[in-house]
Amino acid sequence: MDYNMEIINGAATQIAEMFKSMLMNQPQEGQEPVTIAQIEMSMREALRQIGVQALGQFLSVMQTTPASEISCGCGGSLQYQRMREALIISVFGKTSYRRAYYAGCTCQKGRAQLDEQFGLEPGAVTAGLAQLLALAGIEFSYDQSPKWLQAYLLFDVSENTVRSETERMGALQEKQEDALIQRSQDETYLQERQRQPGPVVSRLYGSMDAAKVRIQPRPKKNQAPEEHEDWRDMKVLCWFETENVPPAQRSARQRKQVALRAKNLRYSCDITEADDFGKLLWATGCDLMADLCPELIFLGDGAGWIWNLVSRYYPHAIQIVDWYHAEEHLEAVASAAFPQDPDRSNWLEGVTQALWDGQVEQVISACQALAAYCELARKAAHYFYTHAERMRYDRFRTSGYMIGSGTVESRCKQIVSQRLKLPGAQWTVSGAVQTAKARASWLSGHWQSLCHHRSPLSLAV
Ligand SMILES: [Zn+2]
Repeated sequence: MDYNMEIINGAATQIAEMFKSMLMNQPQEGQEPVTIAQIEMSMREALRQIGVQALGQFLSVMQTTPASEISCGCGGSLQYQRMREALIISVFGKTSYRRAYYAGCTCQKGRAQLDEQFGLEPGAVTAGLAQLLALAGIEFSYDQSPKWLQAYLLFDVSENTVRSETERMGALQEKQEDALIQRSQDETYLQERQRQPGPVVSRLYGSMDAAKVRIQPRPKKNQAPEEHEDWRDMKVLCWFETENVPPAQRSARQRKQVALRAKNLRYSCDITEADDFGKLLWATGCDLMADLCPELIFLGDGAGWIWNLVSRYYPHAIQIVDWYHAEEHLEAVASAAFPQDPDRSNWLEGVTQALWDGQVEQVISACQALAAYCELARKAAHYFYTHAERMRYDRFRTSGYMIGSGTVESRCKQIVSQRLKLPGAQWTVSGAVQTAKARASWLSGHWQSLCHHRSPLSLAV
């Protein structure tokens, strides 16, 4: 939309004059001088009130001369009653407008065509405000959001409104994922993309992880909250590509290895069994042509479900245990087996170098040698034995693969820990899932597409 700058400038001049005369009429003596911050904030509030008026008036003038009778959805007919006021909560706050209201059908339903034309729900939040509320809801806890929003929006919004709008965005994300799942199980679609795959990136990465979420629905009357507490796994998947980090931006740690960073990250998450999560893995992968990529690489920790899913859906993928996970196991063994330096550092330095060089057998032997008196070492030996082929870091480095950058954990933390584990959070399974899905969409850069779906009608402008 192009603004008429003359009108904007005219309105601005009037506002400026209004503030000037307000300031002039201030009693001078004994008063603190007015600061620019006070002027700014006061002007923001004035502009907000102008927004309330302008939006309401705009909607009212968009009402055309009402017909005396219109058809009802049920097949009957509705008679024009009167111009009736309605209230919506827009980005400017409570906004009222007047539109033609029809009633009198046998089905008892009323109708206002203007509401339908603009996708307005009287009494409810507009699509424009919903985006902003959900954006707060994916970042701040629901009980804290109203405070932040008040500072930005200059009016009050309830905790429940923020919650329901955020969850609604998550539900939209879920709907899009369901559509992908359905498509990824359609033989015709799969055959078609085999024939004409379209653009395929040469190297694609996937990483998966899980984090615990405390499920504790709000207690109902006569129920103790403890009875319902439960921990569930939120599984997180991230598809990404990599790019070289420019030398000047490399950290000390990155300087000694291939400096890669992730780009085009795309997240999915759910609280569900591995089998169901596999469907999401396959569906989102289909969308990115993961199965057709010349080089597909999966990074993960040692969890069995991750590698089972990778082997089932992407048998040709290169499997890599995230370097930092493997390294952590060695650090744990060193701390448990050697109470004192320098024994501890010497051992750790040796095995870390061996692991870096892909000498997994040497690492296994080093752990086995401690197994008799250190339970952690025995377990670590088993871990390195199980994942030996996923730890050929020498070969992976030669091929220029990302072997770990904390990617797997940080992905999961971005979704789960940073939001779902905020203090004061009480989650139902669906509340946690939908909030996480909304957040995943934002972090994946898909937010605008969700907002487009949240808006029931796109205005022809
Ligand atoms: Zn009807």
